[in-house]
Amino acid sequence: MTTDDPPKLYVWPNEPVPARRVWRYTVDPIRDEPDAFFVYRHAPGREVPDGLFLRDLMTLDLASPDAICAFIQRYGPLGPEWQDRQPLADAYGAAGLSWEQYTQATIDSIRGLSEISFYTPEYVSTLLRSAELEAQMTPAPDFQVARGNITFVTLDEFRIGARTMRDLARAWRLYTGTMTIEELRDSWESHHSVPDSIDAAVGRMLVELSDLSPFAPLVVGNADDAQPPVSLTSALRLQVFNEIVKGSVALRCRNETCPYGVWYLPTTWNTGSRRYCCSECADMQTARERRRRVRDANRLAKQGLTEEQIAANMGTSIDRVEGWLAAAAKRRKGGK
Ligand SMILES: [Zn+2]
Repeated sequence: MTTDDPPKLYVWPNEPVPARRVWRYTVDPIRDEPDAFFVYRHAPGREVPDGLFLRDLMTLDLASPDAICAFIQRYGPLGPEWQDRQPLADAYGAAGLSWEQYTQATIDSIRGLSEISFYTPEYVSTLLRSAELEAQMTPAPDFQVARGNITFVTLDEFRIGARTMRDLARAWRLYTGTMTIEELRDSWESHHSVPDSIDAAVGRMLVELSDLSPFAPLVVGNADDAQPPVSLTSALRLQVFNEIVKGSVALRCRNETCPYGVWYLPTTWNTGSRRYCCSECADMQTARERRRRVRDANRLAKQGLTEEQIAANMGTSIDRVEGWLAAAAKRRKGGK
């Protein structure tokens, strides 16, 4: 065992925890304010798709307001951790505060963060800018009805949440051995300090996964409350937890033009048997490699090599070479 081995992790329960639905949101873009949305939580939505923390989240273009808006509409908002753990909008609804009182309370609580050296000044000032923007906004007229179900999300807050989740996915990949500490450091993007060792990265992962309380067992007297929806942040954290339990490994999809980049595999011991994140990627890459082989075989044929020589050159059978030459001839005939 070298010092580069990841620390061993212990989980409880030692089996995957069932996913729960996330809230469904309506995004209400604000006129004249391209940097923020009002987001209405209105109904329990579907479960988030398997592996979301690796796929759509990793490839989401955080520079694009439209892409962020579409993501929220589809899966829900992300934001700074304190917001997720204690949704102020809920507290606002319960306490019956006015909009002014609520936004002022938000600003005050963020100012309090600046006293804690754990948070960088840039992080606190980003949150403060967002809260001040919120204070200037007036929610839609039906806001009184939506009370407690409304969230104000600025693009900057969303980016903070998204980057934190992406770094969690990276730390997990480092832990599973599919990313080096150098790669992790180069791609690190959240406001949390860049880990300088595997221990530090796994430590960061443990902090992120320390709150899985939305998935605690529950006894209620109303069937509708039996499966309360969770926040997207919670749902994504659970996805990582479940992959740790299953002993999954993140592998790069071998489709050269994979739109997702990485995926995970069920267990460490059969990683060789699956090379693509999905069947479309497998089809794309197989077709691409075949086109390449056809082209190479024909180039060699044009240079005057015999089928036997081409087969030897390309490390394949004569039958295959015949097939490739025939395929190209057929395509020429077809006028393509
Ligand atoms: Zn793929």
